[in-house]
Amino acid sequence: MIYLDNAATTALKPEVFEAMKPFLLENYSNPNSVYSFAQESKTAVDQAREIIAGVLGAKANEIYFTAGGSESDNWAIKGCAKAYASKGRHMITTKIEHHAVLHTFEDLEKNGYEVTYLDVDENGCIRLEDLEQAIRPDTILISIMYANNEIGTIEPIREIGAIAKKHGVLFHTDAVQAFAHEPIQVDELHIDLLSASAHKFHGPKGVGFLYMRNGVKASPLIHGGAQERAKRAGTSNVPGIVGMGKAVQIAFADLAARNEKMAAVRDHLITRVLDEIPFSRLNGHRTKRLSNNANFCFRFIEGESLLMMLDQKGICASSGSACTSGSLDPSHVLLAIGLVHEIAHGSLRLTLSEESTMEEMDYVVDSLKAIVERLRGMSPLYEDFVKNQKEV
Ligand SMILES: *Cc1c(COP(=O)(O)O)cnc(C)c1O
Repeated sequence: MIYLDNAATTALKPEVFEAMKPFLLENYSNPNSVYSFAQESKTAVDQAREIIAGVLGAKANEIYFTAGGSESDNWAIKGCAKAYASKGRHMITTKIEHHAVLHTFEDLEKNGYEVTYLDVDENGCIRLEDLEQAIRPDTILISIMYANNEIGTIEPIREIGAIAKKHGVLFHTDAVQAFAHEPIQVDELHIDLLSASAHKFHGPKGVGFLYMRNGVKASPLIHGGAQERAKRAGTSNVPGIVGMGKAVQIAFADLAARNEKMAAVRDHLITRVLDEIPFSRLNGHRTKRLSNNANFCFRFIEGESLLMMLDQKGICASSGSACTSGSLDPSHVLLAIGLVHEIAHGSLRLTLSEESTMEEMDYVVDSLKAIVERLRGMSPLYEDFVKNQKEV
């Protein structure tokens, strides 16, 4: 099997599992208990918090553990909406956010909030002038993703942070695809809130965190016990948190070298696809993109058929995002970068891990070439196109 869907989820690292194991089998204590048996799990949770804060240049008490990226996004957005409603009810985001962000904003719109959805350019980058123009006296939050989960484009986060700060508006970034992949310093980038999820960087599923700068007062999303400094109720997911801490440590040990290696393998894939498969295009920014992301469109091809045929060759890939697979609507991200429905339907996302090799990419390209040729051979649209071209 060749797994090229690392934007959907990643493999748990054995070292991460080993770090979690004692907290599943031996010390199952609730870290909030007073007896000494609970001390070990409390210490382990504190350590994970320190590790995460450390890599962000944040303070440990600015890290709140959650059940993953979706919860962190919901909390940041709904929590700020509620807490700052007296200042205003306007918020700004983009048309290419993950559904955890987009659907949260749509829910708020039904409840008296106003949301501006910024357009993006053909590469998937927002325009800073658009952002500046969208800010109003009653704007309370800007939420713009760090890097897009479909096309891999990295947004101009530093510039966005500077604009948010200049106007005194809070800045949240969904960094689920970027955290532990890109180096992020929250102070330098003026980020006030940041969402991340462990299973996107070889940690366990169902655990993540929200970084919330001290002084930001997002209301709690989950009410109950006084865990996470009374901001997020629920008994701590100790094994998950410990695993996430370990995964962060591993990811940051060789971040730059790993990215360089992955980008070289990815570029080999991109170059071969564009050179050898006619009527193919790369979606997303050529250079300002995640080092593991390649997203293509193949004209006259149905993405879903492509996926099924790749699966028969043992290749795991995705078209659009995992959440929308199964629906017939083309990706909102591909439409936002200006692709017409017909072309957006023929999309393929291949997201690598550090385990991905040049040989695997060669196998993938060879398989793709054959599949694309076969599918086009069955396409009446392609037949018409070829016929018309001959007549011209
Ligand atoms: C995966 C993903 C999420 C959701 O994270 P979960 O931990 O799966 O809830 C949110 N935003 C982006 C950009 C993602 O890629």
